[in-house]
Amino acid sequence: MSDAGTRTALVTGASRGIGRAIALGLAREGFDLVLNDIERQKDQLDTVRTEIEAIGRRAVTLFADVSDAGAVQAMVSHAIDATGRIDAVVNNAGILIPGTVEALPERHWDAVMDVNAKGTFLVVQALLPHMRARGYGRIVNIASIGGKHGAPEQAHYSASKAAVMGFTRVLAQEVGAQGITANCICPGIIVTDMGRTNLEDPVVAERWISNTALRRLGQPEDVVGPVCFLASDASAFVTGQTLNVDGGIVLS
Ligand code: NAP
Repeated sequence: MSDAGTRTALVTGASRGIGRAIALGLAREGFDLVLNDIERQKDQLDTVRTEIEAIGRRAVTLFADVSDAGAVQAMVSHAIDATGRIDAVVNNAGILIPGTVEALPERHWDAVMDVNAKGTFLVVQALLPHMRARGYGRIVNIASIGGKHGAPEQAHYSASKAAVMGFTRVLAQEVGAQGITANCICPGIIVTDMGRTNLEDPVVAERWISNTALRRLGQPEDVVGPVCFLASDASAFVTGQTLNVDGGIVLS
């Protein structure tokens, strides 16, 4: 169990979309928040901080590119200084730059792997000494159903999310004895700026819906409950797992 007192969660990429919804959901569950994004999202991140304060919880904003090891180390140490404790981390920051394998510029491969896969590793690595010292941690990594089957023009994105799942399974084995759990969430098609990349063609959008048991697209709020569960003590005996949050997409 976490120590008594208000728990704190760090959410990366928290200015909009799924990250914003997760941050607000954790605040409603009683967490204080450390909100991360990149500096260009300052205004939107400040808005999320205000929304969390309106719920009655504390929020600190810290800017860092999660693919930059030095910036991540500085962010984590500021987060611990500012809050005294990080109980849970949600590695949500991610990017998608569509492109076929044949035409994909190497820099797009690198950028997607750097943010989605390396960024998750860097944030976890920076936080582990703190979590180990407290004997407690909840690590929730946002992968994707794209990491299981994927879609054309997203091979590098699929590879990055498969990497997040493999990383999480091994991480869980390394840190379990210290009271730290590590799990993945695989969202399906969620209506956000990124999710709309999969919905530009109405025929493709309709196919996603008809292949989904619940016959609808996901909203950012649909991801919140499963993340809150994995960030809480209710999931104390759950680790190394990957949970699809996709409305029952037949291929997942
Ligand atoms: P989104 O609307 O594009 O939001 C992602 C946020 O992450 C943005 O604020 C973005 O800032 C930020 N970010 C990007 N690179 C960053 C970096 N290097 N360091 C810190 N923050 C960074 O995406 P979303 O749809 O909410 O997706 C959130 C997560 O869910 C991602 O990991 C995504 O892969 C995953 N996911 C999404 C879907 C979906 O259908 N939406 C499905 C499966 C999985 P900028 O906008 O300034 O780059």
